[in-house]
Amino acid sequence: MQLMNLIGGELTGPVDGLWIENIEPATGQVFSQIPRSNQADVERAVQAAQSAFPAWSSTPLEERAACLRRWGQLIAQHSEKLIASESQDNGKPVSLARSVDIPRAQKNLEFFAGAIEHFASESHIPAGATHIHYTHRKPIGVVGCISPWNLPLYLFTWKIAPALAAGNCVIAKPSEVTPVTAWMLSTWAAEAGFPPGVFNVIHGLGPEAGQAIVEHAQIKAISFTGGTNTGAHIAKTTAGQFKKLSLELGGKNPALIFADCNFEEAVKTTVRSSFANQGQICLCSSRILIEDSIYEQFRDALVAKAQKIVPGDPALAETKMGAMSSEGHRDKVLGYIETAKQLGATVLCGGAAAPAPNERCSQGYFIQPTILEGLDAQCAVNQEEIFGPVITLQRFHTEAEAIALANASNYGLAATIWTQDLARAHRVASKVESGIAWINCWLVRDLRTPFGGVKASGVGREGGFEALRFFTEPQNVCIPTR
Ligand code: NDP
Repeated sequence: MQLMNLIGGELTGPVDGLWIENIEPATGQVFSQIPRSNQADVERAVQAAQSAFPAWSSTPLEERAACLRRWGQLIAQHSEKLIASESQDNGKPVSLARSVDIPRAQKNLEFFAGAIEHFASESHIPAGATHIHYTHRKPIGVVGCISPWNLPLYLFTWKIAPALAAGNCVIAKPSEVTPVTAWMLSTWAAEAGFPPGVFNVIHGLGPEAGQAIVEHAQIKAISFTGGTNTGAHIAKTTAGQFKKLSLELGGKNPALIFADCNFEEAVKTTVRSSFANQGQICLCSSRILIEDSIYEQFRDALVAKAQKIVPGDPALAETKMGAMSSEGHRDKVLGYIETAKQLGATVLCGGAAAPAPNERCSQGYFIQPTILEGLDAQCAVNQEEIFGPVITLQRFHTEAEAIALANASNYGLAATIWTQDLARAHRVASKVESGIAWINCWLVRDLRTPFGGVKASGVGREGGFEALRFFTEPQNVCIPTR
């Protein structure tokens, strides 16, 4: 299978004729090739996007919304193929691609089709006004959308949908690790009704194709989701260019387990929040903070449940945990487990690569769900994002100590709080430094809410009107009333 860039409505190979091998993580085998694009490919895409911008930005919003809805329907129509491809490309179980990734990608397109129809801007007309002020929200122009490999089509559509709905032309780059479903979507752009050049996809390596998008002077905004180091690099690269930047970065999310929690529910959901998608969701819990009086009981229940999760062939319907996304990432996660052992951690379960589930997967990248205890809050394993099925347990005695431990991190994406005490729930949520606080639940999303992190977890918010505000430039217009 050979994937192509989409530039100016044409599916096309890379200018330099170079290709990258794409590997199926469950088998370790090459199954497709993607363009190794560079600055020349990005230049062609920018020219196509600039040509398309005047007409697209003045297309009635109902027509833009209709394109997004038709694209959503095409996802639904091809969902079986997309589910299988997402699982093959990323290593995630088909059951997860079926229940989360692909339906959510469709929902993203349909949601922003609706959102743009309800999006309005402010006007300021005081009583007896001599002048009226109103805010004209204009599309920005050509914008870049760069997404990671953990939720490939889900996060790709989460960016391109508001960008296109708002009237921008897009240059999108999926992760080179998981490019297939973005490519499939790109092949249906014309059928959905997008004119040539409105939506362009450039495949390739981050430091080459991604860097060329970030550096390009005519790309006026960058919406990026990925690692904190890459986000910092993008911020530095664009510092003198005054581009709009939205950065959704890493996390080191705490789960605060109070003694008065609903025990069964807290255990069940913490296992899910720790190990879903092999722990490769930016919102996954990674530091489990447990109140002293239930520490042993909660730990043992968590370990008992985690031990039942056996990584399997992602292509099989019954598999709950699949493969790590790449060999390099598997090795990085195993490296953290080794560091934890050297630091004197007790490995309560897992702690190593998992055996191949079958012959087909004999060269795949599998890791056992791993629970560690006995580590200092400040050590690398508790401070750095691991982004795999590895969690640490820490004990707290008081509410203040729980909050201090939760906040003892440079990251601030999501926190999960488990308590039946309503006042405490609100109190703790307000004191935890995070963009999202889930009380007695996890990963419950309403697409209208602001999504993003604080501290090293990012700058700006996605979701709902926040995303439409990001992808528009507000102009204050003032006119006399008489
Ligand atoms: P990376 O930062 O490595 O890559 C993210 C994207 O940026 C990829 O498309 C990558 O391309 C590209 N990229 C890499 N270098 C550059 C560059 N110099 N200029 C422009 N683009 C570049 O992250 P991962 O793909 O490893 O994703 C995992 C990370 O994403 C984790 O840290 C996770 O927490 C974070 N994340 C954050 C979320 C949030 O909402 N806050 C949600 C999901 C994930 P390529 O892969 O082709 O090299």
